[in-house]
Amino acid sequence: TIVHATAPKRGSQRVGAVQITHAERELWPGVTKVQLADYWRTVAAVALPGIAGRPLALLRCPEGIEGERFFQKHGSKGMPPSIRDRVAAEGPYLALDIEEGLVACAQMSAIELHVWGSPERDIAHPDHIVFDLDPGERVPFPDVVEAAKEVRARLKKAGLESFCRTTGGKGLHVVASIQHASGWLAVRAFCRHFAATMEADMPERFVSTVPKAKRRGRILVDWLRNGPGATAVASYSPRARPGAPVATPLSWREVTAKLDPLAFTLATVPDRLKRLKANPWQGYGTLRQSIPEETH
Ligand code: ATP
Ligand code: MN
Ligand code: MN
Repeated sequence: TIVHATAPKRGSQRVGAVQITHAERELWPGVTKVQLADYWRTVAAVALPGIAGRPLALLRCPEGIEGERFFQKHGSKGMPPSIRDRVAAEGPYLALDIEEGLVACAQMSAIELHVWGSPERDIAHPDHIVFDLDPGERVPFPDVVEAAKEVRARLKKAGLESFCRTTGGKGLHVVASIQHASGWLAVRAFCRHFAATMEADMPERFVSTVPKAKRRGRILVDWLRNGPGATAVASYSPRARPGAPVATPLSWREVTAKLDPLAFTLATVPDRLKRLKANPWQGYGTLRQSIPEETH
């Protein structure tokens, strides 16, 4: 067989406005680049509100999840036009606005999208906070579920409604929207104090600092996601982990001892969206709430 250098690349396929090269390349075993691109088209409407116009870091896996990977916050050669490259005082970031940008991420083999806690248009003022619950060794998942409910109850006492999402990994995230009044300093102080109080009240269940030895059998209430340039995985982002799990927003009714976070995958989330009667984070976008006065 003669292969001509000028021939169109094998397996190049159009998804919307984006040309996907090596469409058949597997990013996860059995899941191809073009399937990732198609996934983003399917979920774009629900995913974009949490991603568009927000500083991003991308986890790129050019050879799939078993190959080398790197976090990218800067532009690079051959970056598609639908992904913007910016530098703010808080650091460099990438951003996108429309579905085409999501599909372009797939073309770049950018499997995971991680977002800042503030929008580009008001980058010094976070519009949500994230408590990232990270179970230590030997913590059964139902304990993580209980921890998420505990965070929810405590946030409620502080005047904040919150929402839960799977991470596609071992833990859960609890997210509360906040109004733009508070800057990063105040928000960080609130989150640190919130986590430290959980540890002080229930030291056998929770820790609020990273050293791993302390975490055995406990859950780290990781508040460090809440700072300028810090990121958390975006809702609906797939993860570069076995089984193509997806960080999935849940309704609190789904946050039970039976919850299996790895049931939410690239293959299952589109069906879930078809089945759902309401947005699991109903009301998230319209809440008008802020962190308590004394921490401003
Ligand atoms: P899990 O439930 O398994 O903990 P996770 O997404 O919460 O999944 P973490 O390791 O707790 O994973 O990290 C929380 C967030 O911190 C990530 O989603 C990511 O946005 C950010 N993060 C972690 N490691 C890095 C890194 N090396 N570079 C940039 N951001 C990172
Ligand atoms: Mn985590
Ligand atoms: Mn963490």
